[in-house]
Amino acid sequence: MSTTLIAGGTIVTASGTIDADVLVEGEKIAVVLARQPGLNVSMTADRLIDATGKYVLPGGIDVHTHMEMPFGGTFSADTFETGTRAAAWGGTTTIVDFAVQAKGTSLLATLDKWHAKADGNCAIDYGFHMIVSDVNDTTLKEMDSCIAAGVNSFKMFMAYPGVFYATDGEILLAMQQAARSGATVMMHAENGIAIDQLVAQAIAAGRTDPVNHGLTRPPELEGEATSRAIVLAQVANCPLYIVHLSARQALAAVAEARDNGQNVFAETCPQYLYLSLDDLARPDFEGAKFVASPPLRPKEHQDSLWRGLRSNDLSVVSTDHCPFCFKDQKELGRGDFSKIPNGMPGVEHRMDLLHAGVVAGQLTLPRWVEVASTTPARMFGLYPRKGVIAAGSDADIVIYDPAARQTLSAATHHMNVDYSAYEGMEITGQVVTTLSRGRPVIDEGTYAGSTGHGTFLSRGLNQYLV
Ligand SMILES: [Zn+2]
Repeated sequence: MSTTLIAGGTIVTASGTIDADVLVEGEKIAVVLARQPGLNVSMTADRLIDATGKYVLPGGIDVHTHMEMPFGGTFSADTFETGTRAAAWGGTTTIVDFAVQAKGTSLLATLDKWHAKADGNCAIDYGFHMIVSDVNDTTLKEMDSCIAAGVNSFKMFMAYPGVFYATDGEILLAMQQAARSGATVMMHAENGIAIDQLVAQAIAAGRTDPVNHGLTRPPELEGEATSRAIVLAQVANCPLYIVHLSARQALAAVAEARDNGQNVFAETCPQYLYLSLDDLARPDFEGAKFVASPPLRPKEHQDSLWRGLRSNDLSVVSTDHCPFCFKDQKELGRGDFSKIPNGMPGVEHRMDLLHAGVVAGQLTLPRWVEVASTTPARMFGLYPRKGVIAAGSDADIVIYDPAARQTLSAATHHMNVDYSAYEGMEITGQVVTTLSRGRPVIDEGTYAGSTGHGTFLSRGLNQYLV
């Protein structure tokens, strides 16, 4: 078995920092040895990585991505191959992507279809959640088969009537079914029925620019749907995870449920921490680059979200990576904002943007690792195989230079999309090396990975349930 010694670095974990060396043997971490005066243990290895002055992190875990996702007659622009490669560039070593049930099809056939897209194509490890868009007796039974197949989180939508939308009754049935196994229901919480009326009014009045995407999906309707999802989960006694929380009204609902001891969790995404309705209002259809749902919010929501991350009412940061090129894809909505494909690129920049939050004093170093790696691992049943630097865990390790400077740009990113939502943004900190199960995927700034190295992760249950 080949061995690698990562020496001289500062390990950052969810519980603190420690000056220690890491010995990797094959795919696993064999030894974590704290450097302390008077201790004279020497380790040797086939390869030495000098991490002096660098952070040594557990690889990032992005639990919300959409590679090759069908939407409105097109597909998100990153394949599992290009998307996982870009993820590794940014220090992410695991993604959990969404298999999407089309109405009238079975969950197991859907899962097979997503395996066919991903298997043999990924540079890093991956798992799946299941999007349930057609609730019926067959589907409900199939949820148990999905759980047996390592997929035990089910996403539902209170938005997108006619596509993914589920009624409150359907949501309740699926929650009851999930609750029997302890599986988690993930919710896109926006009141799609009311939103569709506002959208129709805007189009009829000739308000067709991208900014209207944000104006027709007000934060109150995210708050309302979040509250309703929480009540339904309470009645069904089902663990609930709110995806891509963007509005302080929704955060307040989550905080209240958590104070009441309910198994309710939430994530936010970097775009809601850094971008705003002002970006959606950029002229010349540029705002289309920022169309995602929920929409970017007025700036004043950002402080609430950072605070939620510190207080743990927001436990996870994922990306909702769902890139559509500006040319030919976003352009489908010229003259009608409701036809702009919903989604933004981001899988490559999550670790960096959160590190920027550390530099800005919004998060502590350990909290960075916690929301980006350790909690996602525990929330979705991957811990301690993933999400921690400890003996016996997978050697998914990132060497991170906290002093490096980089400028985010479509000209230099690795995602398969023709624009960057963060074009020109200067960041302090950058990935130097990314190991996936002991193998370099990014090696001192060079791609060294291989398509098909990534394997499917059969996941356990949420480890925070009480
Ligand atoms: Zn999503």
